[in-house]
Amino acid sequence: MHEAELLFTEVLNCGRPELYLNKDLKLSKEKGALISDVLKKRALGEPLQYILGKSDFYGMQFKVTPDCLIPRPETEILVETARKYPADNILELGTGSGCVAISLAKVLIQPRITATDISDKALAVAKENALNHKVKIDFIKADLFNAYGLLPDTYGLIVSNPPYIASGDIATLQPEVRNEPRAALDGGADGLEMYRRIASGAAQFLVDAGHLILEMGFGQAQDIIKILKKTESFEIIEIAKDYNNIERVVVAQKKVK
Ligand code: GLN
Repeated sequence: MHEAELLFTEVLNCGRPELYLNKDLKLSKEKGALISDVLKKRALGEPLQYILGKSDFYGMQFKVTPDCLIPRPETEILVETARKYPADNILELGTGSGCVAISLAKVLIQPRITATDISDKALAVAKENALNHKVKIDFIKADLFNAYGLLPDTYGLIVSNPPYIASGDIATLQPEVRNEPRAALDGGADGLEMYRRIASGAAQFLVDAGHLILEMGFGQAQDIIKILKKTESFEIIEIAKDYNNIERVVVAQKKVK
């Protein structure tokens, strides 16, 4: 649905077809005022998902607040790719709303999933989403691998959509994106800082032959592959493209020594 449809189906509490079948329906004063309130906020650049407090991802609905990134359609490619590499123990770094970890919990058979975030507020949203979707996930507050509770040589799959926008580019983004948490977007001077940190820490936490699967920004694939290869701990085994034919997800496998 496009934004206008999302807004009207939400306020009128109806499905998309009803909008078009009841074209001549007059809005009540209250509903009209509600729509006008939303439009005012929207016109100031607030994303519709934050105004409505929810977002669709992978066929499910997730609560979102300005404390977490709004799930992107491209990130569904991360889930689609990760589900091809199931593991007994899975770790997600930087879970935000929890949408990736929760989607994996839904499609995999009895996975044990740990999901981290540096933000307490994001973790609170993710916990609520996990509860709503009736999946069990261990949430841990962590700055990437810096946390008690993460276990070395344990995870068969580590997955992440890290912040990957170069710090200097953030001011040039659409106002909607600038409403999102900076910590979920800012990937340091060249946008690749988190990949360097993940690449240098991940092997210690993966089991032998375990997989590290990362979302990437536009045009970053070659640099990220270089970063991963430089560690001498990984082999690149797959690059997945998104709906726009952009290299979006990299799958690296931990070498067996
Ligand atoms: N995909 C987001 C965007 O383009 C960025 C999210 C991220 O940094 N991981 O706005």
